[in-house]
Amino acid sequence: MYPRDTKDRWFQGQGLWSHVPESDWKNWKWQLKNRLTSVEQVEKYLELTPQERAGCYFSGRKLALAITPYFFNLIDRDDPNCPIRRQIIPREEEMETAPEELLDPVGEEGSMAVKGIVHRYPDRVLFLVTDRCASYCRYCTRSRLVSNAQDYNFHPEFESGLAYIESHPEIRDVLLSGGDPLLLSDRKLDYLLGRLRAIPHVEFIRIGSRIPVFLPQRITPELCEIFKKHGPIWMSIHVNHPRECTEELRQATERLSYAGVPLGNQSVLLKGVNDNVETMKSLVHRLLMMRVRPYYLYQCDLITGSAHLRTDVRTGIELINQLRGHTTGYAIPQYVIDAPGGGGKVPINPEYVKKITDSEVVLRNFQGKTYRYPLVNGVPVASGVRPEEVSVGCPG
Ligand SMILES: *Cc1c(COP(=O)(O)O)cnc(C)c1O
Ligand code: SF4
Repeated sequence: MYPRDTKDRWFQGQGLWSHVPESDWKNWKWQLKNRLTSVEQVEKYLELTPQERAGCYFSGRKLALAITPYFFNLIDRDDPNCPIRRQIIPREEEMETAPEELLDPVGEEGSMAVKGIVHRYPDRVLFLVTDRCASYCRYCTRSRLVSNAQDYNFHPEFESGLAYIESHPEIRDVLLSGGDPLLLSDRKLDYLLGRLRAIPHVEFIRIGSRIPVFLPQRITPELCEIFKKHGPIWMSIHVNHPRECTEELRQATERLSYAGVPLGNQSVLLKGVNDNVETMKSLVHRLLMMRVRPYYLYQCDLITGSAHLRTDVRTGIELINQLRGHTTGYAIPQYVIDAPGGGGKVPINPEYVKKITDSEVVLRNFQGKTYRYPLVNGVPVASGVRPEEVSVGCPG
């Protein structure tokens, strides 16, 4: 048993910036303007290791360095291996490229229908609307374009993206991402969501954003009104470690929930950050306490310079194995690998089916005990089971 998490251990307040007026601290534009973006600024607050300092200097050519004061407070400055620090402070290892690593690890460029629209699955598209984020994650899958440190020169073209979606009636689901869509102004978001909502075949609109985590101040009542107006808008946030679940984030997710935004979470499995069951359990429990349903746990993509953050896939499988049955079903994300080269997300699961014969399925449960489920009337599946012969019980 690990100790129960209680809310009084959730971080809150202004930390290192307690001298700043509260009205500034709570203003998202102040947070953006006061981001730490250079070695000198970071070193004012934190003693960098030589590996980190080298990484910071290199970051200008790979993925920009930027950390909001709010998020910087979550770093344990006495611990060079702090899980928050590992996500956000560049390291020398980012300069190395392992043979299996790629600039576009999940093959998005190959499915780019028009600039900014990735159309990989039949009924839905990924719509990249900006290349900027509030802070930059060192393992970002899209670091080829995000922050523009590599001269990709991504210019969001809303109109050509919208025209593509309008002219493809098979698209029923649009996922806004980037970069971080919530860095757009209220006016632009209102416009974009309004245009999407006006397309008759678009049923489902969602936003992928780490802003609630990096910059919860951005979740203003005005922004929530926009979501309400164009709702339902679903949102996937991106939390990797329980320490990111602060009182400020809890309040931001509450505002979003009250505006009718269903919330999911996408985590990336990262070495030294969340690759053990105690951390993962604490994370998913905190997420549920904030009305956020864990959605995906991603195996870290093979992005260049990420070897020091990637785990063995078997670690991920074992984590899920230690969650399923041991805690609330709602708390368990689907572990996936976004297949290198453009295959899309592939679910990776622990094996629970030990054997299937003509007469039964042999199962193991979460405790490792064996159970048997007979096949319908012992009729081999191969000979065909007509649907009406299968009685469907209430899953209640
Ligand atoms: C992840 C992703 C989606 C959404 O996938 P879901 O499994 O529906 O969440 C859509 N398009 C692309 C290109 C993606 O990478
Ligand atoms: S917030 Fe998302 S898009 Fe931005 S750097 Fe992090 S992973 Fe990349």
